[in-house]
Amino acid sequence: MSYAFKDFHWANDIRVNEYLLPKTTAEALEMLAEYKGQAQVVSGGTDVIPKLRKRELEVEALVDISRLPGMSDIKQKGDKIILGGLVTHARTVASLLIREKAGVLAEGAARVGSPQIRNMGTVAGNLASGHPAADTSMPLLALNASVTIASTEGERVVDLPQFFQGGNQTAADSRREIITQISFSALGKNQGCCYLRLSKRRALTIAILVLATVVDVDPDEKTIRDAAIAIGPVAPMPFRARDAEEILKGAPVSKEIVERAGDAAYKESTPESSVVWGSDEYKKEMVKVFVRRGLYKALKRAGCPVA
Ligand SMILES: Cc1cc2nc3c(=O)[nH]c(=O)nc-3n(C[C@H](O)[C@H](O)[C@H](O)COP(=O)(O)OP(=O)(O)OC[C@H]3O[C@@H](n4cnc5c(N)ncnc54)[C@H](O)[C@@H]3O)c2cc1C
Repeated sequence: MSYAFKDFHWANDIRVNEYLLPKTTAEALEMLAEYKGQAQVVSGGTDVIPKLRKRELEVEALVDISRLPGMSDIKQKGDKIILGGLVTHARTVASLLIREKAGVLAEGAARVGSPQIRNMGTVAGNLASGHPAADTSMPLLALNASVTIASTEGERVVDLPQFFQGGNQTAADSRREIITQISFSALGKNQGCCYLRLSKRRALTIAILVLATVVDVDPDEKTIRDAAIAIGPVAPMPFRARDAEEILKGAPVSKEIVERAGDAAYKESTPESSVVWGSDEYKKEMVKVFVRRGLYKALKRAGCPVA
């Protein structure tokens, strides 16, 4: 189905010739292919429409995937949680499964924009925007998530560290491809997580710093089996603080080890100074503070608090 874009009352100031409403993923991919890079996927539209208005994006057509079947569910298959490519932030926050088994993602999605933005905006769209401060990117990176990307040539699965490519670029080309699902392992017993956000106001502002931590502990030995620390936007793209993680792996749960991890993450971050958002040194200091705070909270939630 195709509509003249001008029929939409909110489209007066947007230059797009065609608004396409495919009924299946295959049809959507065909439409994108026909436009040979001149059409773009739109889902909730919370990034795409403002960009078109500001002329930061120029396309001939939009392919609205919001009515594609089977992509709005959150499911568990074995130990994997699967989020369809159309799952909104609001649905993620409301999901008991996500709150219980991937709480860090529910916490991140809850901080996106406002209720209206969370009702329209999708988690896949948040990832595809490639923004280094996107609120669900860090939780998903810490959960070792991967995305399934469909094109007319088939499907491929990309792990998040390879998905983010810097400069708002990702491995998914939204002019040719569609993220159909996001998957990650459910958190279990002895695992804890934490999401922290630094921003100038509580809502409707871009984050200065977003941190997501996941820890896996041995409560009898009081040691950390594994740890994931994802941070943004203090580098060109969301990243895992691997040096800090290495310090934690196999180490005893202690104040000293948490402090050392904070110091390592400080060294790993490479923020830029901004008159509006703060100096690079301020942001690096906040990385140190947040990593420590995030680890204390995640360890407590895993049932192994620092004494
Ligand atoms: C007022 C306001 C406040 C906001 N606040 C926040 C905030 O606090 N935190 C935050 O992280 N973000 C925020 N955002 C950004 C935005 O809401 C999110 O990035 C949202 O999750 C994008 O999802 P969407 O479905 O609306 O994507 P769209 O706008 O439809 O698309 C975004 C990009 O992803 C592509 N895309 C979308 N879905 C897919 C898919 N399935 N496969 C391939 N490509 C796809 C599109 O082509 C486009 O490039 C805000 C936006 C607004 C307007």
